[in-house]
Amino acid sequence: MSLALSEEQELLRNTAREFIAEHSPVKELRRLRDSNDPVGFSRELWSQMAELGWAGIVLPEEHGGADLGYAELGIVLEECGRTLAATPLFSTLLLGANALLLAGDGTQRKEILARVAKGEAILALALQEGAHHAPYQVATRAEASRDGYKLTGKKTFVQDGHVADQTVVVARVSGKPGERDGLALFLVPKNARGLQVTRTVMVDGRNAAQLQLDGVEVDRSAAIGTVGRGADVLDPVLDRATIGLCAETLGTVAEAFERTVSYLKTRKQFGVAIGSFQALKHRAAVMFTEVELSRSIVLDALRAIDEKRPDVPLLASVAKARLSDTAFLVGNEAVQMHGGIGVTDEEEIGLFLKRARVAELTLGDAAYHRARFAALSGF
Ligand SMILES: Cc1cc2nc3c(=O)[nH]c(=O)nc-3n(C[C@H](O)[C@H](O)[C@H](O)COP(=O)(O)OP(=O)(O)OC[C@H]3O[C@@H](n4cnc5c(N)ncnc54)[C@H](O)[C@@H]3O)c2cc1C
Repeated sequence: MSLALSEEQELLRNTAREFIAEHSPVKELRRLRDSNDPVGFSRELWSQMAELGWAGIVLPEEHGGADLGYAELGIVLEECGRTLAATPLFSTLLLGANALLLAGDGTQRKEILARVAKGEAILALALQEGAHHAPYQVATRAEASRDGYKLTGKKTFVQDGHVADQTVVVARVSGKPGERDGLALFLVPKNARGLQVTRTVMVDGRNAAQLQLDGVEVDRSAAIGTVGRGADVLDPVLDRATIGLCAETLGTVAEAFERTVSYLKTRKQFGVAIGSFQALKHRAAVMFTEVELSRSIVLDALRAIDEKRPDVPLLASVAKARLSDTAFLVGNEAVQMHGGIGVTDEEEIGLFLKRARVAELTLGDAAYHRARFAALSGF
């Protein structure tokens, strides 16, 4: 596998790096957090990203997208990860729009995807109900009503759910929580009667929501894909989103590692840079190896989506297990090697650890994905 980027991809990387460094440096995340910004990201920045074609980067041209691949989306996500840029790329494109792209009917795709590509519509996916990622642990019920379905239940950690114009809600039409069969996906607009949305702030400063659905009525046309076979849509959506999140995490850990090496070269003790001590060099070498291994697996996983390879689910789990471990290691080492200042809020390095922790747990941690990899491999 070639690890080199094409000329066009290099160009995209440079543009993305310059744009994000100028418009969304780490201090922008701090500003959003400290001002308790009700949105949690800049809508203006999101519009500018849409103008650059990023909001619809993997969407087809017929829906106003750039029709590029995940290899390209991964480049943008990695650069966002480097400055901890808060954007709705994950919630809107990787989760919400992917559900519509993979299983939406003509009307749903036509009406919503073009607005996503323009940066006008924010989407979210309401899946999780407990403390951990467990995609089939869905107790939210969808009962057939006269014109459609009535949704009742609770959702948590709905990223950007507090500002989503439409949320894809995963509910159960039959079976018990934990079963793969019996799920269904419904598009629920933000002003739906019976829907209560409570904003929550995560440790990395980003926003999510808790949803309470008290008999929310949706039309039959709100269903995405076949009712009862929702997992057939959910699985590939989660695979793509997982791989995208890994690309962003790669940027976060690569930046945290580079900042740490630079600190080891400048912080002096006993008249020499602390990076001259072997004990720290060895730890830095372990980090470097882990970041490079992570880069290879992320690149392979992104390309597997573009090449429509059958091993996408396996690679999603390999990538997430690896990146979760790398995020844990590099996040911890970065703060420890910075010494006492690493835990202060004034220094940016601690923000990388916080983001790494949230990314590690989002869509399943390393243990979850090792178990999934084993199950998919027939162990
Ligand atoms: C929340 C908090 C509570 C604290 N409470 C106490 C307390 O109650 N009492 C107290 O005395 N102190 C306390 N401290 C201070 C703490 O002891 C120091 O922060 C810690 O020893 C790290 O020192 P430093 O920040 O100067 O890091 P640095 O000296 O800058 O170290 C940075 C990195 O370099 C490494 N390093 C440094 N020198 C060498 C060397 N010569 N060889 C190899 N590696 C080296 C370190 O291991 C680390 O990885 C506290 C700190 C914090 C953050």
